[in-house]
Amino acid sequence: MRWENLAADGTGRAREAALFGADAVTTRTFDSPEFRGITFHEVRARSIVNRVPGASRMPFEWTVNPYRGCSHACVYCFARKTHSYLDLDTGLDFDSQIVVKVNAPDLLRRQLASPRWQGEHIAMGTNVDCYQRAEGRYHLMPGIISALGEHANPFSILTKGTLILRDLDLLRQAARVCEVGISVSVGFTDRELWRTVEPGTPAPERRLGVVRTLTEHGIGCGVLMAPVIPFLGDHPDQLRATVRAIAASGATSVTPLVLHLRPGAREWFMSWLAHHHPHLVRRYERLYAEGAYAPKWYQRRITRQVHELAEEFGIGPSRPGTARRLPVVPPQAEPPHAEATQLTLL
Ligand code: SF4
Repeated sequence: MRWENLAADGTGRAREAALFGADAVTTRTFDSPEFRGITFHEVRARSIVNRVPGASRMPFEWTVNPYRGCSHACVYCFARKTHSYLDLDTGLDFDSQIVVKVNAPDLLRRQLASPRWQGEHIAMGTNVDCYQRAEGRYHLMPGIISALGEHANPFSILTKGTLILRDLDLLRQAARVCEVGISVSVGFTDRELWRTVEPGTPAPERRLGVVRTLTEHGIGCGVLMAPVIPFLGDHPDQLRATVRAIAASGATSVTPLVLHLRPGAREWFMSWLAHHHPHLVRRYERLYAEGAYAPKWYQRRITRQVHELAEEFGIGPSRPGTARRLPVVPPQAEPPHAEATQLTLL
């Protein structure tokens, strides 16, 4: 791998350090079935709280991302582009070359204790999923949640990972002293679509099980209905089935977001589309002819349909103290080009 070669010599190490803000890299693989084919690059990061450049356009200003790359392997993931900054490719490498900031909890604790830190909201899951499979091995989130709870520092998590339930007690403890917002991402409930387009994720119904469990334990949980995938997941029957399932899970809110295809994700998604649904390639080229986003008329149509269904199934808007929905970037806002600014479709 080019990146490892770079890391092996002096020049490469300097470059790698610049990319990671890290001092050293240890590369590991594990034999267990869930980690087969995945390589972990353990780094000691120099900082863990990232400021979102151009925060005025973003719904949060600070993020913590203990991982880079994501074994959930969603074909459309727009964090893919960030792997290219590491001289890794945005396709299979993104799914299988996972950077782990092993000192994330210690670093966070130190940064939260700094007199310069003002206790602002910290968003997690904004770049890649902090409850991806690696977390089962590295256990970084318990330390991170504990640190935030100890400092009564408000935070939010967006995830597709059922592993978040492992940390339920910690989340409940933190929610007693600060605002804790959890959102789970479920863009559709179609199993066939799930298997091919989100191959490394827990099934949609398992994710909705997370919503149910969190809600039962007093942690209001919203659903980011993302992405709604044109021509594959946007049929009225599919939207209806998805919103109905979301409502049945006890979600406090549902927020639809149509697929967007930025560079890095776009190439990977389109090659997947050509392989699995070749008859749709031309339609996609037309729909996304203007850039990364589907046309406004399409986005409005989906939003209206989902809102009508949400009303029908009784999911109201967020209510203070119950629905703590992670705000979503307005579809046409183009976040600046940096790790901390990537809001992914978890
Ligand atoms: S969309 Fe989210 S869960 Fe899927 S690969 Fe990207 S970061 Fe991981």
